[in-house]
Amino acid sequence: MIDKTKYTTYLDDSDIQNGERCQVACPLHIDMPNIYDLMDKGKYKEAYILLKSANPFPAITGRVCFAPCEHACTRGLLDTPVAIRDVEYFLSEYIQSESTADLATYKEGSLKGTRKETVAVIGSGPAGMAAAWDLAHYGYKVTIYEKHPVSGGMAHLGIPVFKILRKVIDHEIAVLLRLGVTIVNNVEIGRDVTLDDLKAQGVSAICIAVGADVGNKLKIPGADECDKIYESTEILRLVRMGDRKKLGDNILVVGGGNTAMDISRTCKRLGTKKVTVACVESKDSMPAFDYEFESAQREGVNFQFLAMPNSIEMKNKRLVGLKCSHVDPKSFENNPGKDIIVMKGSDFTIPADSIILSISQKPNLGMLGEKYSDAKNERGLIKQELERGIGDLEGIFAAGDVITGPRSIVSAFASGRSVASHIDSFIRKSTEVSEKRNSILSSKKSGVKFNFEELKRQKAQKKIPLNLEGNFEIINQKFSANQAKEECDRCMRCNKNIQIDSKRCINCNYCVNVCPVRCLTMVTENNRVFTNKSELETGELGTAAMIKDDLCIRCGLCIEVCPVEVISFKSFNINGN
Ligand code: SF4
Ligand code: SF4
Repeated sequence: MIDKTKYTTYLDDSDIQNGERCQVACPLHIDMPNIYDLMDKGKYKEAYILLKSANPFPAITGRVCFAPCEHACTRGLLDTPVAIRDVEYFLSEYIQSESTADLATYKEGSLKGTRKETVAVIGSGPAGMAAAWDLAHYGYKVTIYEKHPVSGGMAHLGIPVFKILRKVIDHEIAVLLRLGVTIVNNVEIGRDVTLDDLKAQGVSAICIAVGADVGNKLKIPGADECDKIYESTEILRLVRMGDRKKLGDNILVVGGGNTAMDISRTCKRLGTKKVTVACVESKDSMPAFDYEFESAQREGVNFQFLAMPNSIEMKNKRLVGLKCSHVDPKSFENNPGKDIIVMKGSDFTIPADSIILSISQKPNLGMLGEKYSDAKNERGLIKQELERGIGDLEGIFAAGDVITGPRSIVSAFASGRSVASHIDSFIRKSTEVSEKRNSILSSKKSGVKFNFEELKRQKAQKKIPLNLEGNFEIINQKFSANQAKEECDRCMRCNKNIQIDSKRCINCNYCVNVCPVRCLTMVTENNRVFTNKSELETGELGTAAMIKDDLCIRCGLCIEVCPVEVISFKSFNINGN
């Protein structure tokens, strides 16, 4: 018997305001349990529309989101989280394959061009795509300016080929075009056109969403003289564009984040026999997600942890390797990474014929020039306030990595949606922002399955290549319909919580008797029972049913048997735009 107190989240009334954990953790606040309910009834179209109402690009997040929702999932306290991302992947693919592709343009054209104002979006990456999606739905004419010949920004050029196919990105871009969004490629704002040029064209607002795609340099002796040091985002971009040239036979990747894992795995596919990732952090404190690290390790990437780069070692003008010192592992114990302690006399060289840097990126803010330099903060990013259009730079907004530094695609999508609502308010000269509409909903059923405890997490098939060289095939496959259904059934519907209108309780005891886990009890005034917040109010008979939230399995039988309908499920919902 499992300990049900382990996974109860709603011990206090205010917790209901937090909604289900997955919805709160997802930057786009996708309402997964209600999507599961619709899928359970075979209503895939409706489920997709609900998904799409929060997430304009589920085909992308379903493949590459880092799934913070799963880290927060209540089911994870029982065994393993619901495979939310895989369900999203399944649903987006299912809809495409069912020849209902028109659904992919959910609400397409509903407001298309109904407003005369135009908005310029700089950058066609995740933040720019999401901003354009919402602005088009608000009715604005939107033009995206993209410096590269292809659209999609980091969603396209910053993700390895073996994680997402170009046709998936192209499909999402095509949806934007059908919404009436114009994309002008090969135009760099700041180089070809200035912000003032855009203003002179009469745009009502400008949204800067250029991402953070300029790799940081290694500032150590010898780095400037070496011509075999590359930058990871640049290499990923070239490979995406079809350049499959091998960079060397012994490559050292510097950095311990997810991009370092991506580029090391890409190098393996380009034919490099030996790829080593070196990072300052220990294995447990490196920023890359566990599953990214494990994938790189499985593909034969070597790791050198706790390595502090000192200088570039050259011989006869040829790169020999990276000279490093060992970092004391204690540096990551108490105050992780704040005070890096280098161990004296511990110098060593990691041999390499090429080095790829993956030590974070920053944005290129050349478009600001002197005139708009106030938009920048001391970290070289655009000030956070510009997502809400606050400040002296009237009509100039920003979204995504350009204000946060490199983050996730899902965060950039959320930021793009948020900035669109602020741009809309600005243009309408309204103080109301149509960003989120929260609600508390009542229902009679929770959707929890009686066998939910027994169901094990489904694993999507993986196509792991036997020979990596030249193999850029997609590894993660989508769920089958049965797998998706089983995952929906594993969800504990922690968004739904029993509420009893105790003043109207008639003391029939039906609910107490029907409850399979005995979490209901009848109390009287004499019991002096207190709820979490206040003394329990009993009905006219001086009695009332009371529930122990920490035992409730959300079966809903009490709701079904209550003759006076005083029991219901309540759920808090964060609705997107
Ligand atoms: S977009 Fe990402 S965080 Fe949100 S529900 Fe999907 S997988 Fe989870
Ligand atoms: S149990 Fe279901 S509703 Fe609760 S966090 Fe997990 S997926 Fe979301």
